[in-house]
Amino acid sequence: MNLPRIDIDLEKIAHNVQQLKKLYGSKGIDIIGVTKVVGGNPIIADILVKNGIEILADSRISNIIKMRKAGIRAQYMLLRTPALSQVQEVVIHTHISLNSELAVLKKLSEYASRNHIIHKVILMVELGDLREGIMPSEMNAIVKEVLNMEGLALMGIGTNLACFGGISPDADKMNELSSIAIRLEEKFKITLAMVSGGNSANYNWFTSSKDVGRINSFRLGESIFLGKEALCRKTIPGLFTDIFTLMAEVIEAKRKPSQPYGEVYQNASGDIPSSKNKGLMDRAILAIGTQDVVISGITPKQNVAILGASSDHIVVDNTKAKLKLGDAVAFNLNYSALSRALNAQHISKNSINFHECASIL
Ligand SMILES: *Cc1c(COP(=O)(O)O)cnc(C)c1O
Repeated sequence: MNLPRIDIDLEKIAHNVQQLKKLYGSKGIDIIGVTKVVGGNPIIADILVKNGIEILADSRISNIIKMRKAGIRAQYMLLRTPALSQVQEVVIHTHISLNSELAVLKKLSEYASRNHIIHKVILMVELGDLREGIMPSEMNAIVKEVLNMEGLALMGIGTNLACFGGISPDADKMNELSSIAIRLEEKFKITLAMVSGGNSANYNWFTSSKDVGRINSFRLGESIFLGKEALCRKTIPGLFTDIFTLMAEVIEAKRKPSQPYGEVYQNASGDIPSSKNKGLMDRAILAIGTQDVVISGITPKQNVAILGASSDHIVVDNTKAKLKLGDAVAFNLNYSALSRALNAQHISKNSINFHECASIL
């Protein structure tokens, strides 16, 4: 298949989903599959659903439309709190949305009730990370209003930590979310079907807690696709961390000076590069660049070192690997590199182990 490309091991994705379902299910926590890092790739979404994921969540409506058009049957959740200008699409294309703004909820309600649709909402609670969320002191007032809004069903509450402020979803934060849920249920005589405690960063809290309180849902992307928890980026035991491999082709392999020569000004990135003179060296150029991946997030599997990159090229030190023209270099990717690469239009996506996987299912 064409280069550059990403090989995607579907069998390993299936394995990680099964393991995470078993792990979190052991204390009553259900997992929602977050597809934004894979750009709503329908083949991957299909693997999630076939391995027991009932809710697929994405931050982009276009990804949700892509999965639904491909016939992937699931409940679809919009992760990024909707823009005011988006409410019609939200109601039409998604079943559930995460919300923090009363004005948006009102518009969702208007549009849903006018079209005889019941749209489910999760109210996000701010617990200190300072991305989306309603301040806890305002929850009562907002819940009261939402319960009276036609076309909306209050499905539950949730929180999102460790994303903007790097705040740990620890016992204090999770107890606070549980208490808010219990308080709302008592005050309004309601049952919250979902109390969504967080994302891949909640692993450490989960493993160290006997009692998970009212928390019964996590929204997971990174743990499924990279096999890691997201607080310290440690591998979760028993999970695969090498599901995705980026492959790029060598388009030049030559012996050249180790230092640019001539008068030094800005390079393509606006930096003034500096380098050490180590005499002549073997260098290679790969046909992939910053438009396709986050360079700091990829690690070569062969023994080459990345010297630098521009929009369409990566230059590597080829002293040890002795790559030849036409060779392919393989890379592991972290979350941001994976996200950029899987959403890049110039990289082919190649599913491997599809048949083995299909036969397991
Ligand atoms: C991206 C996102 C997630 C998934 O986070 P991971 O760390 O990849 O598990 C969960 N919830 C929200 C609101 C998100 O935006």
